[in-house]
Amino acid sequence: MQKIKNYINGVLVEPISGNYLDNYNPSTGKVYSLIPDSNEQDVELAVKAAQDAFPIWSALPTQKRSALLIRLSELIEKNLEKFAVAESVDNGKPVWLARTVDIPRAVDNFHFYATAALHQSTETHSMGDVALNYTLRTPIGIAGCISPWNLPLYLFSWKIAPALASGNCVVAKPSEITPMTAYLLSELAIEAGIPAGVLNIVHGLGTKVGSAIVAHPKIQAISFTGGTKTGEHIARVAAPMFKKLSLELGGKNPTIIFADCDFDKAVKTTVRSSFANQGEICLCGSRIFIERPLYEKFKLAFLEEVKKLKVGDPSDDKNWLGAIVSKLHMEKILSYIALAQEEGGKILHGGNRVQLDGEFAEGYFIAPTIIEGLPHDCRTNQEEIFGPVVTLQPFDTEEEVLSYANSTNYGLAASVWTQHLTKAHHVAAKLHSGIVWINCWLLRDLRTPFGGVKSSGVGREGGFEALNFFTEEKNICIKL
Ligand code: NDP
Repeated sequence: MQKIKNYINGVLVEPISGNYLDNYNPSTGKVYSLIPDSNEQDVELAVKAAQDAFPIWSALPTQKRSALLIRLSELIEKNLEKFAVAESVDNGKPVWLARTVDIPRAVDNFHFYATAALHQSTETHSMGDVALNYTLRTPIGIAGCISPWNLPLYLFSWKIAPALASGNCVVAKPSEITPMTAYLLSELAIEAGIPAGVLNIVHGLGTKVGSAIVAHPKIQAISFTGGTKTGEHIARVAAPMFKKLSLELGGKNPTIIFADCDFDKAVKTTVRSSFANQGEICLCGSRIFIERPLYEKFKLAFLEEVKKLKVGDPSDDKNWLGAIVSKLHMEKILSYIALAQEEGGKILHGGNRVQLDGEFAEGYFIAPTIIEGLPHDCRTNQEEIFGPVVTLQPFDTEEEVLSYANSTNYGLAASVWTQHLTKAHHVAAKLHSGIVWINCWLLRDLRTPFGGVKSSGVGREGGFEALNFFTEEKNICIKL
């Protein structure tokens, strides 16, 4: 059985403990590889390697760092199919999705930050004849990057790329549930010639490896994407150590459909925003609010489209939904569907585990699920489910829908569907959300600020914001 290795100081190594964890293929429910059960000793080695590499890496001209990261991005592109298949097997997502979204985006992340670093500039503040201030930006040192399982390489590279491009060394931990593409990345980092110790990838449990990264005194910045509860814990540990913190956390995103929307586009895109990647995208809209005059028409058209979605073997391009990432997560989603029924919700479609035959008989599949008849403030509509489950709710006025949309603790993303320009601007401004899409969903420009408000996180990724996060500013004032 394949054994994943840690990547420390430029080489692939076994965990110090010699212990391994099972890695499951969620579409078969079977163990298909083993991952290092690393601990704080492995993290210590990674930190030491990063410390040793930092003076050389941070002193390299930006162009040289950029060229190495572009080389890494080209190597991922060259191996796109291998990475897409690995991501699909590890996570359960359809291979077509990994091929068209996850892996191309990882390629883009490295390319984007390798080139963005070449264009970064700092500010000057003139005090006329009196003095001139200029700002220097220097890399922080060692950055800790911790990422989740839903978009494994996509989110892992979204952190590592800006950290490395701005001259830091990295100690990173992918989710223990989906470690494979991070492992493949470490093989390519060696091939690309990334100097030893610059990028270190330590595999294992959040409670061992993640905690050791967060608590390590030599790691000065933590970039974390994951659940809100984990984010709270990380903030509690890291804040008293005065570490820089970027926290991208959970969401419970609203999709708001006004009666004057472009109906066909709204239905088609809402199917995608509800169920893409089995609903396991932090940006998926899980609460669909429909203006009452359109409610029945939208409901029927949406149902008709969702009924066409096939669930099954992630390697078969005919299937639109693959497997849920783990047994535990599947059980969590099913428990929320049961809760929705207890709370008085009516299941219009799905609501069940999908039982397949043959090698997929033990796989973790759930049908896309549509529920109606629940109030906006019940638990189903307040808590993050993070699966293929949406609720439909009617509304009468703009004020009403804004109060529903803003009623959760989260504030990551929202979609608004209307052809009325003034209404679109007004609603977008009033939504408590870090990202608002008008008449679209997941249309991403990597230069824009990405992140949430309230319990959805602290800080912004994307564009120069991320490069800035991984640097310290120093103002220098020259008396003239
Ligand atoms: P978790 O918070 O469970 O895990 C995220 C990462 O943190 C994993 O690598 C995990 O390791 C690690 N971790 C767990 N405990 C600790 C700890 N005590 N200290 C340090 N690290 C730890 O999230 P999930 O992986 O379940 O991801 C799903 C969540 O991520 C959802 O809430 C989703 O909304 C959110 N998310 C947010 C995004 C955003 O941009 N805002 C984007 C994508 C997802 P291990 O796997 O071993 O537990």
